Amino acid sequence: MLEPLHTASALSALLAARRAEGRPIGFVPTMGALHRGHLELVREARRRSNFVLVSIFVNPTQFGPNEDFTRYPRDLPGDLLKCADAGADAAFVPEVADMYPDGAETRVTVGRLSSPLCGAYRPGHFDGVATVVAKFFALVGPCVAVFGRKDYQQLRVIERMAIDLLFPVTVVGHPTVRDSDGLALSSRNAYLSPEERLRALAIPRALHDAAQAYARGERNVGVLLQGAARRVEGAATSVDYVSLADTATLEPFDTATVLPGPALLAIAARIGHTRLIDNVVLGQDAPPPVEEAPASGEGG
Ligand code: AMP
Repeated sequence: MLEPLHTASALSALLAARRAEGRPIGFVPTMGALHRGHLELVREARRRSNFVLVSIFVNPTQFGPNEDFTRYPRDLPGDLLKCADAGADAAFVPEVADMYPDGAETRVTVGRLSSPLCGAYRPGHFDGVATVVAKFFALVGPCVAVFGRKDYQQLRVIERMAIDLLFPVTVVGHPTVRDSDGLALSSRNAYLSPEERLRALAIPRALHDAAQAYARGERNVGVLLQGAARRVEGAATSVDYVSLADTATLEPFDTATVLPGPALLAIAARIGHTRLIDNVVLGQDAPPPVEEAPASGEGG
């Protein structure tokens, strides 16, 4: 098990010692309740560096007032064991008061990339994400930071923020890790009842069908969206969006558009009370698998 580092000064001292040995730092920011998706990011960071730091911090500023901050799953002892197993060298586990000093007034806002898709449904969410990741980048210094493409908009926001604020950080996106039946692993999957988990499979299946249609040559945005939306609406409690968007700007395409090339198909929907997001880049990512449910129900 890893000894968690709780303070910025302990973190700085450790990183300074590792840097003095000439070791490049790999960094994986998380909110804990770790699953195989997070651990794949740790392995990716290890491939790209010699010393891997994981942060575990449930960041209050990225949750809306009616969201799940207080009940977000937390399992620090389990997370530390999993981090060590996956090859992490250190875990940074700050308190809220360390990350947001008394009287904190500074926020990082990433302009247009924060507005569409989830930005339209979670006001302030990406400001919260960009702010906390900027603080982590300031604390960690030069590093390779690995983020999941499951949170595609978040990845684009962080890439932009790192460039704009001149952080000496290489931001790397890792493909979405899924269960064998296609469901993207997420800490929030722990909220799903068995019946809801089955219904949630409509999301990867909608992505699968659209990816197959794209591979067969379908380029009409309206046609691609209609099939995906119908499948998700048939299973979800409510749907925030089923959108086809530009992979760089994240601006959704109009339904009349004929896609000029690869495009982001992104879905956000509620299954029961649980909000799930997923995506695939048509013309780039393999379609999610559509197999039978795994016996373990892993992914919590
Ligand atoms: P979270 O703990 O949910 O804030 O996620 C921490 C990091 O893990 C983010 O970069 C996420 O995009 C990434 N991540 C979460 N789930 C997955 C997944 N299923 N596949 C790949 N990366 C993931």
